Amino acid sequence: MQTIKAAVCHEFGAPLVVEDIQLRAPEFGEVEVTLDAVAICHSDISYASGAWGGSLPAVYGHEAAGIVSAVGDHVSSVAVGDSVVVTLIRSCGTCPTCAGGKPTGCETPYDGDHGPIRTSDGGKLHQAMACGGFAEKVVVDQKQLVKISDKIAKDVASLIACGVITGVGAVVNSAGLRAGQDVVVIGAGGVGLNAIQGARIAGARRIVAVDMSEEKLEDARAFGATDGVLATLDAPWRAAYKALGGKGADAVIVTVGAIPAYEQALRHLGAGGKVIMVGMPHSDAFAKYEPVVLAALGQGMVGSKMGDVVIQRDIPWMVDLYEQGRLQLDSLISGRWSLDQINEAIEDTKGGKARRNVIVFKR
Ligand SMILES: [Zn+2]
Ligand SMILES: [Zn+2]
Repeated sequence: MQTIKAAVCHEFGAPLVVEDIQLRAPEFGEVEVTLDAVAICHSDISYASGAWGGSLPAVYGHEAAGIVSAVGDHVSSVAVGDSVVVTLIRSCGTCPTCAGGKPTGCETPYDGDHGPIRTSDGGKLHQAMACGGFAEKVVVDQKQLVKISDKIAKDVASLIACGVITGVGAVVNSAGLRAGQDVVVIGAGGVGLNAIQGARIAGARRIVAVDMSEEKLEDARAFGATDGVLATLDAPWRAAYKALGGKGADAVIVTVGAIPAYEQALRHLGAGGKVIMVGMPHSDAFAKYEPVVLAALGQGMVGSKMGDVVIQRDIPWMVDLYEQGRLQLDSLISGRWSLDQINEAIEDTKGGKARRNVIVFKR
């Protein structure tokens, strides 16, 4: 056991407490990563607020990058000193879903209550999302890691672990967008901007961003949106139709967890199109839709978890695009904070103006 600093959630809705915790050494197939950066995702905030329940005390944080500092037995994919992206996608590789090529849907449960971390006095401490990245170090399964070039700044690399793969993957993998198709992206926050760049990379004809704020629509244009529509309009889908030349979209990517956004998503959709459900509302929130419309127009709705990525395939691809200047990552970061400032960083993220706030660790 070693002692490290982490931001611990003791009570839903209360500020996180930065304190000493215990981390055990990596075991079979596990890797210890000393983190350089961990970004704050809305999922962390939802968990910490109690929106989805879960075990306490807990360490959240799941969008990280760092350097491998120790490996357990039978670790072959990375070695000490490697730069890695740390994801929450813990896939067993052998369950029917993993074997079928969809590791984001792995059916083998992970018990975060019996993970590698303990409170300073040896008590139970939940490793949330199989990661616990709001900490100086993590011990995770080797399958959650992707080795990257040392040249890429870790704060930038951390974003790839969740926001980038979720947004780009929603368009490329979940929607299976073809070049020339039209896309509407609802919400131009961290994930939305990545869905927009995913659509640009996939060769979309028009990319319409829908958001409540004019400022975010400006951001959206900088990431590749061809048009922006204010969600505060009476019938925003009419403006989107107009932008698409009088038709609905082939794919509507919902990147926010608001129920009205889900209810409006179908209005933006053309015949044969698909709504890709990415944003995660609180548990027990329900949306209404008219089945007859979907049936008559051959439309679909599909949930997209972590962009349906295969991290070993998709993250190296995205890193390549970044190095070629085709995927924007630097401008996604709107603030850098220390671990001690994590509650301020969370408040700033909740304010809705931030793209991504990143906790940066000093060595
Ligand atoms: Zn996330
Ligand atoms: Zn599995």
